[in-house]
Amino acid sequence: MNPEVALSRRAVVKTLGAGAALLGLGLIPSRSSAADVAASTPASAAPQPFTLPPLGYAYTALEPHIDALTMEIHYTKHHQAYVTNANKALADHPELHALTAEAIVRDLPAMPEKIRTALRNNVGGHVNHSFFWKLIAPAVGSNAPTQELASAITQTFGSLTGCQEKLADAAMKRFGSGWAWLGVKEGKLVILSTANQDSPLSEGIVPVLGLDVWEHAYYLHYQNRRADYVAAFWRVLNWGQAGKNYAAALRA
Ligand code: MN
Repeated sequence: MNPEVALSRRAVVKTLGAGAALLGLGLIPSRSSAADVAASTPASAAPQPFTLPPLGYAYTALEPHIDALTMEIHYTKHHQAYVTNANKALADHPELHALTAEAIVRDLPAMPEKIRTALRNNVGGHVNHSFFWKLIAPAVGSNAPTQELASAITQTFGSLTGCQEKLADAAMKRFGSGWAWLGVKEGKLVILSTANQDSPLSEGIVPVLGLDVWEHAYYLHYQNRRADYVAAFWRVLNWGQAGKNYAAALRA
């Protein structure tokens, strides 16, 4: 048999087995069934072990706003470390292996206490960075806010500038390491910031935009000038992706 096919079959069996076990533990919401888990998890995309997602563009693609060396270190060292450490923390917990990274950060209180902090930091780091790379990907074609998102922004913040000022404020006031976010809570747009690698998903907020304000995200090029980096974010933001995130958040 083709080794890839054999691998896929093993992955399916493993996913089904773990999914059924999770149902028994009550870790999967009751509206899901083992069949749903299997259907939403193609064998080629078993959720774990977590892997670095493809960046999909060159390290130089966001220059001069985000420099190539920062991109390379951020992606291959920092994000990889979150992935490695998340897998390490989960290694002895096969009962959790059918969960996606998002499912873990959405329900941290359900995670074993012994590894909860490791999951919060490292699965959180993996979720946040996977989200971020897509958000700052060079846009293909038009790069303006989708009509749906643009009108929600105007309705909530008065104007796009009003939204940008609020996000910048959240980014500047985040002391130390963390993230600034535009997200959807109960159908409404909200601005927030989180510490460290905490995900808005842990607070029941689905992210639309997220800006990494850890020094590792900007220090090589901007040093202490976080405000300049925050301003540059709008030059690399892929509004098409933001629009997709907003549409998905409304459906969530
Ligand atoms: Mn980062």
